[in-house]
Amino acid sequence: MRFLKEYAMPDLRCCPKLGAIAIAAIVASGAANVPPPAGPMPPPENRKLAHDIFRDIVEVRSVHDVGTKGVADILVRTFKANGFSDSEISVVPETAYPHQVNVVVRLKGKGHGKAVMWICHMDVVDARAEDWTLPPFKFTEKDGYFYGRGTSDMKDEDAAVAASLIRLKKERFVPDRDIVVAFTADEEVGLEQDGPNFLVKNRRALVDAGLVINPDGGSGEIVDGKRLDFAVETVQKTYMTFKMETANKGGHSSEPRPDNAIYELAGGLTKLSQFHFPYKTNATTRAYFQTIAMTTSGQKRSDLFAMSKLPVDEAAASRLSKDISLNAILHTTCVATMLKGGVQENALPSSATAIVQCRVFPGETVEQTRATLAKVAGNPGIKVSLLAPVQEAKETVPDPKVMAQVAKVVHSMWPGVPVMPVMAAGASDSIFTRAAGLPSYGVGGGWWDVNDIRAHGRDERAEIGNFHQTVEFTYRLMKELGGGNS
Ligand SMILES: [Zn+2]
Repeated sequence: MRFLKEYAMPDLRCCPKLGAIAIAAIVASGAANVPPPAGPMPPPENRKLAHDIFRDIVEVRSVHDVGTKGVADILVRTFKANGFSDSEISVVPETAYPHQVNVVVRLKGKGHGKAVMWICHMDVVDARAEDWTLPPFKFTEKDGYFYGRGTSDMKDEDAAVAASLIRLKKERFVPDRDIVVAFTADEEVGLEQDGPNFLVKNRRALVDAGLVINPDGGSGEIVDGKRLDFAVETVQKTYMTFKMETANKGGHSSEPRPDNAIYELAGGLTKLSQFHFPYKTNATTRAYFQTIAMTTSGQKRSDLFAMSKLPVDEAAASRLSKDISLNAILHTTCVATMLKGGVQENALPSSATAIVQCRVFPGETVEQTRATLAKVAGNPGIKVSLLAPVQEAKETVPDPKVMAQVAKVVHSMWPGVPVMPVMAAGASDSIFTRAAGLPSYGVGGGWWDVNDIRAHGRDERAEIGNFHQTVEFTYRLMKELGGGNS
């Protein structure tokens, strides 16, 4: 999950935070970091509760093949032991995949407005013991860190959200509107088995909300021991993959012909390499450019300011696109990633195929993108087709009120940090809630050291102070967005 680029991420879906492009992409030095001092902490009793939930769920191997039932059971038991009644807890196994279990917990409010829903995936990517220096499915405390698969993606946030909802309940806090928490299945792999996807399609009443918070997307960034910025993910590029192929009758290599499948395809790909899709902005990227302009100087600063306004400044966009991180959010990108052609060294190729992977600017459709690729290839003999189904969702246009509420809570813990909306190049569960029409914000309280990202990787860990302040942040944000006092 989480910010910047998808550093060596093996799967296609996860890690929205890695898909956002934040200031750190521009300033990260690569130096080893000392964690900055932690912010405010929860009271001791809540710290212990959060720690114990965290420990117990990290020790469950909730990978795709196993499912989320084990984590769901722990959470249900914990909520019941801490004052939640059966009527406030819904256990929702997926019809076709009963091992994928979702848990929806509701803290009743005064009924002023639609609920705020937090979505938290309980699954993790797998980890092999031989790749790690510590057992991946054992919760280990060592040298100031909690180690184990899921400690940063996202069982830390699961524990923070569960402990915070319980804290509100114990404090007898009655929010203005219901606070709903959906702990969900199979974010890392599934479209079909994905929890939020299942819930919005099959249990809409249970998860209907006026606002969705996904702690799996968006987060604070630490660079060289400093808290640099706090990103709120409000839109994702659309993931689309196309196949480009040429075919003919082939023949013997001793008698070459002009209609060579490899040459034809290569010609189209060369044209694609020289093409760029039109530059675009949306409310999120304009606000983002404005924020990062403050941290830069010279021509780059003027270009970023220019891109924070409409209409799009072509010259500014063109200069900024030299930076690969900025290029990724300035427009649709399509790039050839795989190539295959011919079957034998002495046979003319009867076919050639390339895979072209696109991250499409939100709002552009599959057919528009396909048609552009075909046009750019410039050869009717090159067939362009979509490789796999596409999930699209519109931008959640950043609501100034929600952004101000998030900033207020961020600044109550870490004063002065810029809070900005970002567009992610990766996908998260927010794509399903947005597609269902629910305004969705990626807001995570866990800060990320951009020079030491271990989500999905070896020896995944959470700094202990960071974890506890994630819990405190979650509690404060839950209270702020829920509204009301008691
Ligand atoms: Zn995640």
